[in-house]
Amino acid sequence: MNYIVLDLEWNQGTGGKRGQLKEMPFEIIEIGAIKMDSQFNVIGEFNQIICPSVYTNMHRVTQKLIQIEMEELERGRPFQEVFAEFCSWCGEDYMFCTWGPLDLIELQRNMRYYRIPAFSDRPFPFLDVQKIFAIGFEDKTARHTLEYAVDFLNIEKDIPFHRAFSDSYYTAKVLAKCPKEALAYVSYDVFSLPRNKSQEVHVMFPDYVKHISRLFKSKDSIMADREIMSTKCFRCQKLAKRKIKWFTPNGKHYLSVSYCPDHGYLKAKIRIKKDENGKLYVVKTMRFITDEEVAEIVAKRNLAKQKNMTKPAN
Ligand SMILES: [Zn+2]
Repeated sequence: MNYIVLDLEWNQGTGGKRGQLKEMPFEIIEIGAIKMDSQFNVIGEFNQIICPSVYTNMHRVTQKLIQIEMEELERGRPFQEVFAEFCSWCGEDYMFCTWGPLDLIELQRNMRYYRIPAFSDRPFPFLDVQKIFAIGFEDKTARHTLEYAVDFLNIEKDIPFHRAFSDSYYTAKVLAKCPKEALAYVSYDVFSLPRNKSQEVHVMFPDYVKHISRLFKSKDSIMADREIMSTKCFRCQKLAKRKIKWFTPNGKHYLSVSYCPDHGYLKAKIRIKKDENGKLYVVKTMRFITDEEVAEIVAKRNLAKQKNMTKPAN
């Protein structure tokens, strides 16, 4: 399998919300990509400018960031043409790699605008190199700029940043230097969310499991879903005994702790997210935690209880 390290530049409407298309707030004006084989040897380059058809004035943010003139873009080709070329350049067997999760979402929004089918009818795996870098070298939750990672790894800065090709070039260099164990932590693109149970994502990482659910109408229907609320031990599949019942520290996510006699304390976390149309879906993760972490969650739960008690009645 090859790696397609992708970076996009986009422009947006000038004149605030009124000058903006809801279905495509960002119009792609440049696609840059590096193709690497499974051993991280560079085996191809892609670098194309796109002539915009929607936002034909350059937004000052775009102008400032990427230093490109509209005259230069006008010499580019239409999105459909460049994208078709990009797809055949990608080949058959590959995985996308991007710095952060946004590029694939905006790319598929542009594709949808031009009535090109999305890459998949359900979430699909890709490598978020920003996350892989954090897992490989820092704290799992740290998020840094690409230039930070380039400096951190002493990668030579031989071309300027903030153009699609140069950023894909540097992202590829960072990826090639990440510890190979970190590559197990694939991300899932959520442009196309599961529409039924069979499309849901269940993935096991070295130290935790993740479940991306189908869309739900309401929070209540999520809370009534037995699979989402269940806390089976993911090592032995036995039902783990609930030690801390589901509670929410902030209304956005829910936590619980269960205990498997063979594998220890199991923390489950449910994050409720919204899709573009306001429908809800769940990202649930479960992992084993230490006694100290259990104590921290107990403290959080007590704080949440207190908050609820002091809340004025409506
Ligand atoms: Zn177990």
